[in-house]
Amino acid sequence: MIWNETVECMSRDDMRKLQGIRLKQTVERVYHNCEPYRKRMQEKGITPADINDISDIVKLPFTSKQDLRDYYPFGLLSTPMSEIVRLHASSGTTGKPIVVGYTRNDLNLWNEVGARCFSAFGLGKQDVVQVSYGYGLFTGGLGAHGAVETIGGTVIPMSSGNTEKQIMLMRDFGAVGLACTPSYALYLADAMKDSNISREEFKLKVGVFGAEPWTEEMRRELESKLGIKAYDIYGLTEVIGPGVGHECECQNGTHLCEDHFFPEIIDPKTGESLPPGESGELVFSTITKEGMPLLRFRTRDLTCLHYEKCECGRTSVRMSRILGRSDDMLIIRGVNVFPSQVESVICEIEELEPHYFIVVDRINNLDTFEIQVEVKDNFYSDEVSKMIAIKKRIAHRLQSVIGLTPDIKLVEPRSIERSQGKAKRVNDKRKFNS
Ligand code: ADP
Ligand code: ZN
Repeated sequence: MIWNETVECMSRDDMRKLQGIRLKQTVERVYHNCEPYRKRMQEKGITPADINDISDIVKLPFTSKQDLRDYYPFGLLSTPMSEIVRLHASSGTTGKPIVVGYTRNDLNLWNEVGARCFSAFGLGKQDVVQVSYGYGLFTGGLGAHGAVETIGGTVIPMSSGNTEKQIMLMRDFGAVGLACTPSYALYLADAMKDSNISREEFKLKVGVFGAEPWTEEMRRELESKLGIKAYDIYGLTEVIGPGVGHECECQNGTHLCEDHFFPEIIDPKTGESLPPGESGELVFSTITKEGMPLLRFRTRDLTCLHYEKCECGRTSVRMSRILGRSDDMLIIRGVNVFPSQVESVICEIEELEPHYFIVVDRINNLDTFEIQVEVKDNFYSDEVSKMIAIKKRIAHRLQSVIGLTPDIKLVEPRSIERSQGKAKRVNDKRKFNS
């Protein structure tokens, strides 16, 4: 179902007009209420009078994650603290977290875009949805929670962890939707299998998966293990949280809620805007937020955008699957490698479980590249020749996909650590040894 047809199916021209008006309002807001933005704009020699159309956006300065850290905790707010009704924070890998403040209207806006997502996944008033994203400072739990309430569904505010209880309640409460990270969904799928509760006792139909990169191959894996249809939901704390974008029934890209979050793709090296269809770094400007609007925020997520109308009827721009964050890219022996490329190969090989871990190191000035991966119970064998044959096949496939031959370490089923939130799939020991 389309939650807000007026905007989700608006003509491209009308959308750009609306975006232009909203951008101008946002630029005025930050210019007059947020010192760091005013300074940056003055340095560039621009004032709100220079922004009259959405195409003027390229005149504005970028905002980076580092800016959010530098102005920790509240330096980038554009409203007085008395208007802020909620705070969230993203973990941040190093040092201080990134803090975001929401006004009452911001929370309403978040619920609105969340409702668009869950409606697009076919969920509605009659459905029970288990939210197994973590609740707390992380936006996943409360973001999905607000979305389910807004569409009038019944939310189970489960949070992550406590896997046995998750499964019991999923069955007892008749959850139709499950919202969690793809890696936790995989964990839950295995636990459901072990629980001795038959699949028929669950009503599960729809997976609402996001918060970390996942591949098409992982989607198929999850769909077959859980017997559901799995949809992508995208978001980031700085912009609002989950709900920035969502798939539709066509599953041909992730629609972005661009009447609130204006997307651009830039060349990450030069900062130059790239034309539609080209891959680069995703940049967002929030054009309706009050508490902490962001202008041209560099996400570091790598993807591309498509503007053709979708068969579902929506006209909103669609984003391709995220290859990864630029920070997640490994450079091994001079070759760029994303964990998602490894994932797609592993999920294609029948004998393997989709659980893997990548270890990179530098020994005698040479990069080492090891992939640990679980072999399915029924294929795990003491026969060396059988295991060698599987290893060879993986190495061969990886060589043709990424151009590198890793050392493959086949491990027993269930030996790789499971994740209840965002999976950690890489240990790059070079970071500490160099
Ligand atoms: P943190 O930065 O601490 O991980 P966030 O929860 O704000 O905190 O993370 C947002 C990031 O998670 C996005 O920028 C993106 O890299 C990743 N992400 C979120 N949803 C998806 C998705 N559906 N597909 C791929 N990556 C995603
Ligand atoms: Zn669509």
